[in-house]
Amino acid sequence: MKQIYLDHNATTKMEQSAANTLLFSIYGNPSSIHWAGRKAKAVVEDAREQIASAFGIEDPEDICFTASATEATNTALKGLFFQAQKEGQRLHLITSTVEHEATLETAKFLAELGASVQFLPVNPQGELDLMAYESALKTFSKERVLVSLMAANNETGVVFPWEKCALMAREHGAFFHLDAVQAPGKLPNFSLQNAPVDMASFSAHKIGGMKGVGALSIRRGLKLVSLLHGGAQERKRRAGTMNVPGILSFGEATKALSQRDLNAVARLRDAMEERVKKAISGVEVHGQDVNRIVNTSNMLFEGVRGEGLVMALDLAGFAVSSGSACNSGSILPSHVLLAMGRDKSAAQSALRVSLGPENTIEEVQSFVEALTEIIKKLRK
Ligand code: PLP
Repeated sequence: MKQIYLDHNATTKMEQSAANTLLFSIYGNPSSIHWAGRKAKAVVEDAREQIASAFGIEDPEDICFTASATEATNTALKGLFFQAQKEGQRLHLITSTVEHEATLETAKFLAELGASVQFLPVNPQGELDLMAYESALKTFSKERVLVSLMAANNETGVVFPWEKCALMAREHGAFFHLDAVQAPGKLPNFSLQNAPVDMASFSAHKIGGMKGVGALSIRRGLKLVSLLHGGAQERKRRAGTMNVPGILSFGEATKALSQRDLNAVARLRDAMEERVKKAISGVEVHGQDVNRIVNTSNMLFEGVRGEGLVMALDLAGFAVSSGSACNSGSILPSHVLLAMGRDKSAAQSALRVSLGPENTIEEVQSFVEALTEIIKKLRK
């Protein structure tokens, strides 16, 4: 049986050039002063420069490598909370109801520690309520305010107007953190150069790099309390010996991003949705009429449960997801779809297909055929 991977928002296959970096005989500790250490440091700094240029980060030194985007987001939110506390201020955090768990769970934790937290609503298409955002910014302008929003939603692909939101935060004297994980390689012209973003989280494994590597860009001069204490790595922002091979793979993966044809992926996704709608009745595509990243489709099939669908598709060789990857294997309704006003049953029934640059129209066609057969059986 042919196996077809359609779950690129969960993770991606490593780019060949990124995988090749793992074979390099760079084994020194970048903190060591001898030749082996200097070699390792040099390649890490090259990767840092490459990543900064790919994401539009002004100064490569703004990048702090982490073990994941989850760690990057924890560093941004908790780091600013503890910094404010040190300076005798309370943190007010503004975020949205549809963020990734890395943000939501950190926000809830900080609320337990005394931060005030506000979750902004979205409309039925998954778009951010900008009026609620503006009024939140006005309400708390005298406190230390941090806004944390995602560039694009991992479940639906719906894009937030993050550049505008960052500008609004700056105008109201608030700090702005962007969860940029799903943007590179999927959102045309993505670059931090376009907006006053104070911090941004990235993940290597979502773009063809190794798992277990992330980055937080931190605008120069912004003070954060470090989560990890120990050595002076990463300019004292994150103690611990760095994942050198992972960082090299991250740098290589960003090089490949510029060669991606985003329009081709968008055409493939649109063709898939069109064929699905033609072949199957009672289909709804979440966020179809609003700005979405090019590769993501979140579909609901009347009378069919997402879990059963994912399992049946798996048996037929297709790797897809029900709701977010982190919910896979559990029957929790998607918090994103609940926030978009869907009921519990609908929020448990969605199917997420996320395409990658290597998928073909033939693969999409065989997926649509398998899906049509499976839905027929499940509806019986
Ligand atoms: N933010 C978003 C939007 C994500 O999609 C993910 C992963 O799915 C993360 C954060 C967490 O990334 P990582 O796997 O690097 O911790």
